[in-house]
Amino acid sequence: MQNDLKLFIELAEFLISEEQNKPVAAPIDTKALYQKLNLQLEDEATIDSEFKALLKNIIKSTPKTASTSFFNQLFGGRIDRATLGDLLAVMLNNSMYTYKVAGPQVGIEKTILHKICNIIGYPEEADGTFAPGGSMSNYMAVLMARDKYNPSVRNEGITNKMTLYTSEVSHYSIAKNASFIGVGRQQVRAIKTNDRGEMLAEDLDLQITRDIQQGFQPFFVNATAGTTVLGAFDPVKSIHEICKKHDVWLHLDGAYCGAVIFSNTYKHLVEGIALTDSFSVNAHKMLGTPLSCSILVTRNKAYLHQSLSNEAEYLYQTDSDDFNLGKTSLQCGRRNDALKLWTLWKSVGTNGLEAIVDHQFKLANLARDYINKHPDYTLFSFDDSISVCFNYKTISAKKLCTALYEESKLMVGFGNFKGQDFVRMVTINSLLNEEDILNFFKTIEKFVISTDI
Ligand SMILES: *Cc1c(COP(=O)(O)O)cnc(C)c1O
Repeated sequence: MQNDLKLFIELAEFLISEEQNKPVAAPIDTKALYQKLNLQLEDEATIDSEFKALLKNIIKSTPKTASTSFFNQLFGGRIDRATLGDLLAVMLNNSMYTYKVAGPQVGIEKTILHKICNIIGYPEEADGTFAPGGSMSNYMAVLMARDKYNPSVRNEGITNKMTLYTSEVSHYSIAKNASFIGVGRQQVRAIKTNDRGEMLAEDLDLQITRDIQQGFQPFFVNATAGTTVLGAFDPVKSIHEICKKHDVWLHLDGAYCGAVIFSNTYKHLVEGIALTDSFSVNAHKMLGTPLSCSILVTRNKAYLHQSLSNEAEYLYQTDSDDFNLGKTSLQCGRRNDALKLWTLWKSVGTNGLEAIVDHQFKLANLARDYINKHPDYTLFSFDDSISVCFNYKTISAKKLCTALYEESKLMVGFGNFKGQDFVRMVTINSLLNEEDILNFFKTIEKFVISTDI
């Protein structure tokens, strides 16, 4: 192992120098991928020097998500203390299903879950679990709701028409999960949004009422804290009023921006969160831990147990259910995703998490200011969002983003809202500074002059 630890440090340092010297790796055309890199698996072993050279080549060509030119999708950067925790988790290699196998790592996971429940104002009987990503956190939420309102489904399967509700601009995992849980995509109702992309509670009420009249069983509403494209926040309090009126589960999908709970300045965006039945947040998005680190909490842990526990004598041989995390998990063997968030949180404190969140809004404000001051740009997004959506001159967003990528200038994506296409930059990497944001715009401007796009 000692040799490979040394090799690891060498490769990690190579990666860091690569991402400084060449922040956007030259993309390899998919047609040339298997010619350019020897990815083939052969019968014979590879000699060490070749192995190292090949790893370096792979590192060179792999997109650099921690560079100052990565604004593509909802993660980025490399926070050292969180990365340290993840590296340790790999070395320790525990499975989180039992206390016997994970020991104090169980306490680390539980501490994070309880602290988050406490911060959002959930009652004593709240608890949660970690998932392999936000889509899977949403999956567990809708599963708990299905089993709460229709407990016989677990054994007998679905017999009645259950319906669920989410805004027209929410994450695609909601529809996918509706098919996973046997309710079906056709039973997902898309709720209208206002011109900022926020769910209209009136339309929610209307659609639930109509479904009840037609003999459906509404059971679940998904609200979003930070919609995937615009970064909009659905109004939790008014949505909760409707959920209470019709007795349906309210989940808040905070995969993208749920981390505003750590900010005294921005937590008003999720006002009413204490009233939800479940809440999920991806620490690998705003909090900047390595992928993946997704958390699901629910106000009553009984629903977690009802939907997720199975007796397994071969597995649960010691300790109580509160310490055997496999009883409240989607998976059996499960990687330790908690340690990286714990090492980060422990070293910077809750105030440090707040600073991480606030800095991203500060960078977004700076980007919006820049756009508003420059007549060649048109802004499409709103305050209180870390998605900054815009067009430059009359250039197609798709064309611009693709050319910037192919020419190794910037990694940035495009999006669409109510028929309008635009560039979507996200200021989610809290390690960036103001200069990096200004450089982003300068790079676009210089690029457009130098090409005839
Ligand atoms: C990213 C995102 C998800 C999915 O999270 P993954 O970790 O990518 O599975 C779900 N909902 C929203 C709003 C997101 O932005």
